[in-house]
Order: sequence, then C-alpha cells, then structure tokens
Amino acid sequence: MLKCSFCNCESVYLARYSGLHYCRLHFTASVERRVKRAVREQRIFERGQRVAVAVSGGKDSMTALHLLSSLASARRGTEIIAVTVDEGIRGYRDRSMEVVSDFCSIRGIRWVTRSYSEFAGFTMDMLSSARRERTTCAYCGVFRRTIMNALAREAGADVIATGLNLDDTAQSVLMNMSRGDTDRIAMMGPHESSVQGLVPRVQPLRHIPENEVLLYAMVSGIPFLQSSCPYAEEASRNMFREVLLRIEDEMPGARHAMVRAASRAAFPRRGGKAGSCASCGDATSGERCRACELREEAASLVGRGD
Ligand code: SF4
Repeated sequence: MLKCSFCNCESVYLARYSGLHYCRLHFTASVERRVKRAVREQRIFERGQRVAVAVSGGKDSMTALHLLSSLASARRGTEIIAVTVDEGIRGYRDRSMEVVSDFCSIRGIRWVTRSYSEFAGFTMDMLSSARRERTTCAYCGVFRRTIMNALAREAGADVIATGLNLDDTAQSVLMNMSRGDTDRIAMMGPHESSVQGLVPRVQPLRHIPENEVLLYAMVSGIPFLQSSCPYAEEASRNMFREVLLRIEDEMPGARHAMVRAASRAAFPRRGGKAGSCASCGDATSGERCRACELREEAASLVGRGD
C-alpha cells in the first residue's frame, strides 16, 4: 500500500509535479489551502462586499462556487452571487443550469442568468447549424464574456471569480504565445483593478490542476454536470490541451512554471486608446466592440438560413 506523505493513511493521489502522495483528508486540505492562498493573493474578499461567481454547472465553476461560498460564510457582510449565461445548447446547458439552480437554492445563493436569445436574438444551436467560417466557440466565448461582465456589473459585484484552473491558464499562455499575442497574456487576469466598466476577473482555482479539481469535486460531493458541450470539438484550444498534457507528462511541473513565468513577465500592452462602443457603450479600443461586431455577423448568418 502506498502511504500518504503526511500520515500513515493510504494514498489516493500522487501529484507528479511535487512527488507527494496524498490521502483523501490531506488531499482536500491541500486543495483548500492553495485556494485560500489564491484568494489572499488576489484579494478576492478585500475589494468589496460582493463577489460574482461565473458558474456553468461544470466541475470547475461548481468547485469555485462551493469554496468561495464556504469562505464567504465566515465573513460578515460578504455576498456571493452566482451568474450563469445560457447559450441555448439543448441537452447540455439546460441540464447544467438545473445543477446550478438546485445548488444555489440549497445554499441560499442569489443566482442571476441571461440567455443568448435575450442578448442576441438567437441561440448557439441556431448559429451552429448556419453556414459560417468561424467556429461556434469563436462567437460563444466573446458573447459569454460580455454577458458575464454585464450581469456582474448590474449585480453591483466588485469582482467576477471564474473557475479557470491551472491547465486552462497554462493553455491560454501557450495559445497566446504561439500567436505572439503578448497583449492578450497581459490582459489574462487575475486583474488587479477594474478598467472602464469591466469588472475585474479573479481566479481562485489558478493553482489547482484540472485533474485535482475533478478529484476534489468528487470526494467532496460537489454536484456538477459531467458531459461536455456538443460543440467543444470545434474549439481551437483542444490542440493546446493535448500538447500541454504531453509536455506535463515529460516534464512534471511545466504547467505551474508556464503560469508563473507569464505572471512574472512584464508583457507590454499595445497602446490604443480605450473608448466606448458606439453600439452598446462597453469599453473598446475600436469604434465598436468585438461582441457587437460578432453579434451582427452571427445574426445575419442565422437569418440567412442556409
Ligand atoms: Fe460555447 Fe464552445 Fe464552450 Fe460550447 S465549447 S459552451 S460552444 S465556447
């Protein structure tokens, strides 16, 4: 029997990047300690009284909601608000929203939602069947960020916490480096302060690898939807996920190193004066924001019906 590195109990998990074995108790304690560290480092509860948590119903966002609402319950005056975007993906988002709805009503968490139908007049299912050059995700990701920000701003939140884990962040670093887009790396977050109507995004799971989030959610009994979005195969991120897993397999600790290096490096941001979008008023460096441009493009594709 392999033993936990901290006690005589049986090991249930080996963290290859550190060489440490964990029993169930020490594993959950280790995840919670690292999340508390991220909360302190990013001053998640120090910036104001309201923390919005972007929740899809998947393992990452449900774990972030579970941990942040537990931590907030010990801080008087702090409110957690769950925010969910309904992309209109039948058989997937409707099911994951049921998970969020049940969790929030049991925990007494305020839950606000907005759909792509309300935002753009069509669903992702409608857009996915239209003839188009971009992937479904290219529209979906931009709309989601815009709606999340609007929901958090309207709820008076001081920050938006996302469920981004270590792998998500390392993938983004790799993707943006491969495109030479250091400006995007500089904007990735966690954000120190707000910029022109953009609620700062924070990442409590930033130090936790994806497989550890999954294990934590399972051993802690956190409810979540296990299935993936039917359009996930289109995401350009998939290739980077595979590459990153191969790198981590050969070089345990590479994900941590990439994320650390990206946050230490002072990547320059392009100049560009930020103004307001002529259509919706959100911050943008151009005349119209990306969400409004894509919304118009997608609406014409859906309306064309071919
Ligand atoms: Fe949207 Fe793509 Fe994510 Fe599906 S996988 S929810 S289409 S971004």
